[in-house]
Amino acid sequence: MALIVQKYGGTSVGSIDYIRAVAKKIIKNRELGQDLVVVVSAMAGETDRLVQLAHSLSQLPNPRELDVLLSTGEQVTIALLSLALLEQGCPARSYTGGQVGIHTDSAHNKARILGIDVSKIRADLAEGKVVIVAGFQGVDEHGNITTLGRGGSDTTAVALAAALQADECQIYTDVDGVYTVDPKVEPEARRLSNVTIDEMLELAGNGAKVMQIRAVEFAGQCDIPVRVLSTFQEGPGTLIANETENLQRAVVSGIAFNRDEAKFLLQGIPDKPGIAAAIFHPLSAAHIEVDMIVQTLGEEGTADLAFTVHQRDFALTLSILEKVAKTINIKRFIYDQAVAKLSLVGVGLRSHAGVAGQMFQVLGQEGINIQLVSTSEIKISVILAEACLEQAVRALHRSFQLGVESKKMVASC
Ligand code: ASP
Ligand code: MG
Repeated sequence: MALIVQKYGGTSVGSIDYIRAVAKKIIKNRELGQDLVVVVSAMAGETDRLVQLAHSLSQLPNPRELDVLLSTGEQVTIALLSLALLEQGCPARSYTGGQVGIHTDSAHNKARILGIDVSKIRADLAEGKVVIVAGFQGVDEHGNITTLGRGGSDTTAVALAAALQADECQIYTDVDGVYTVDPKVEPEARRLSNVTIDEMLELAGNGAKVMQIRAVEFAGQCDIPVRVLSTFQEGPGTLIANETENLQRAVVSGIAFNRDEAKFLLQGIPDKPGIAAAIFHPLSAAHIEVDMIVQTLGEEGTADLAFTVHQRDFALTLSILEKVAKTINIKRFIYDQAVAKLSLVGVGLRSHAGVAGQMFQVLGQEGINIQLVSTSEIKISVILAEACLEQAVRALHRSFQLGVESKKMVASC
């Protein structure tokens, strides 16, 4: 019998009616002869509400106590879903993360799963029960409740699928899959029937928010196929899995973008060893993640250095750079918060050289200036003015025919 781990996100269990509908869906799947382990999130908005409650008492809530509080969101949902199933005549049993044996380290609010004891789940499945597990939480070696970081129910589901050697991990959410680009920006966006783990990581890391990044990484490491599906609409969803040989794939699979970038440009810095370290070391010491970095040769003996950080780190970066500017010579210091990053993503980029050229040509024809470029094996990213972002997305989506199923195919093996 197939063993499926399903995960329902917060919007899917956002009300009693929705929970009842999810129970119906589970019963239908069970009638198809599947063994089911179901992971649920807290009801929509509940975790935010709990975070706010904690903050109304304390500016910096104690991490251990915060976990005790946050874990209650999922505990409510598992019980309600189990009740809904029992009410409809389906044997079911709910467990918190700690009860079911999800062991984590002690890093409160961002714990990592170390191992899962699946014996209880196996016993319940053998008795024909649907097992319902609270997402986002576990227990450390001292018996403390831990949580896995926001969006962590995805990780719970993938980890359970790995521990149980499930046939598939299904992530039910409010969209019916992973799209070539955000359909809010490009109505021609198309659902991808499959996407590789590497592509998904680039798409997620560049702003496409369907699944928690850590969960996608985990799925790749454990080789667990993950399917993203809509709770509200029938359909095949998108299969996210490690790359297989001989798979026919488009050159470009999707476009990701991120409006939350801020750009810094340091002109006329000394072109000598140690300068980059003098600039970036204090930034990393302050836990600022620097995204794109481009250095070019400036006038005699100097260089120009441009880089981007997340918008939320803008003020901190600025204050650190002002200090750094007192110790090294910087001729001119410019910043721009109204920039965005756009990335073309696709495993087909590995074997195709002309994609960057086509991308730059399209942007040029649109009169859009490219401020910075960076590439990786399966991605080309550019920084451009935020005001031009949507125009750029649509032009590129059209040019690479992403709205059309499998027009340009390459064998990527
Ligand atoms: N309820 C948690 C959150 O909102 C975990 C999850 O939904 O995945 O972040
Ligand atoms: Mg989520």
